[in-house]
Amino acid sequence: MHQIIDIEALCAQRGLRITDQRRVIARVLSESDDHPDVEKLHERAVAADPRISIATVYRTVRLFEEAGILDRHDFGDGRSRYEAAPEAHHDHLIDVESGKVIEFVDPELEALQRQIAEKLGYRLVDHRMELYGVRLERGN
Ligand SMILES: [Zn+2]
Repeated sequence: MHQIIDIEALCAQRGLRITDQRRVIARVLSESDDHPDVEKLHERAVAADPRISIATVYRTVRLFEEAGILDRHDFGDGRSRYEAAPEAHHDHLIDVESGKVIEFVDPELEALQRQIAEKLGYRLVDHRMELYGVRLERGN
């Protein structure tokens, strides 16, 4: 489901000025498929440019988020995690033990949500679905 999204190109489309440091952060984000938080992004950005501060990463992700380039998620551990705004919708299942995030799409679930909105007198335009789970025991 993960596709490399060219955040740099999106910045250009939206008229965001792209500095060297923002470019590095955009690239790190484009290449991340694990919904990193700011600390993890900073770690990866510093590998490419050691001058990038965590404050710059915070400012940049906020800017990207405001421009609709990034989606911010809170998967229940109190830290904001980011991904490039996907072109195709997907939902998330979070493994509460490992923190691993699994992406999924379920057509029946999508349809059900539309039906619920309609029953309540609305046309659904967006939703967020987060499932939290522990792995089923296997074997034995
Ligand atoms: Zn995702």
